[in-house]
Amino acid sequence: MASTCTRCPLAAGRTQVVFGMGDPGADLVFIGEGPGAEEDRQGLPFVGRSGKLLDKLMREELGISRERVYIANVVKCRPPDNRDPRPEEITACRPYLEEQLDLIGPRVLVTLGKFAGQLLLDSKVGITKLRGHDYPYRGAVLIPTLHPAYALRGGGEPLAQMRADFVRAKRALVDAGSHTLDPSPLDPPAERND
Ligand code: URA
Repeated sequence: MASTCTRCPLAAGRTQVVFGMGDPGADLVFIGEGPGAEEDRQGLPFVGRSGKLLDKLMREELGISRERVYIANVVKCRPPDNRDPRPEEITACRPYLEEQLDLIGPRVLVTLGKFAGQLLLDSKVGITKLRGHDYPYRGAVLIPTLHPAYALRGGGEPLAQMRADFVRAKRALVDAGSHTLDPSPLDPPAERND
């Protein structure tokens, strides 16, 4: 069981496993790198500063909130001091991600940052080269983009690139016949100006 996993040394330093959150039948899945301090505390992915940017881009470019998607990470336990996950940790955790993706069966996957993009595409190409394209992934479309933490540090250019990648994801969802972007009765009412 993931919640008691000791397959790698990250188990020793975690507060809790951050498995994932969202709609288990989602057409759109985001995959990040690994939990940070806030995620480790709350047990939920992308609830810190990077998560705020992810939520903003979802809202502004796709018109949806995170309840409509599923969000997971390459490693489910926090690397100490927010260091990069090590290859052996990624390998140990990989079956959990694969099982998640098999169960969810998304039509579109957006990988956030180099670790998720390189892992799923089985590539060593840098993320700035990988991004900007669609890739086939097990019958779905994979769209690699930058990590929100990188955009938070890097400002205008990486942020514009992430926006472009989110537009790419939007197009891929529409092309796949997904209803993810349709307005839902659960949405908050649109603001009125009259
Ligand atoms: N960064 C990630 O890659 N994943 C999270 O869950 C939070 C921050």
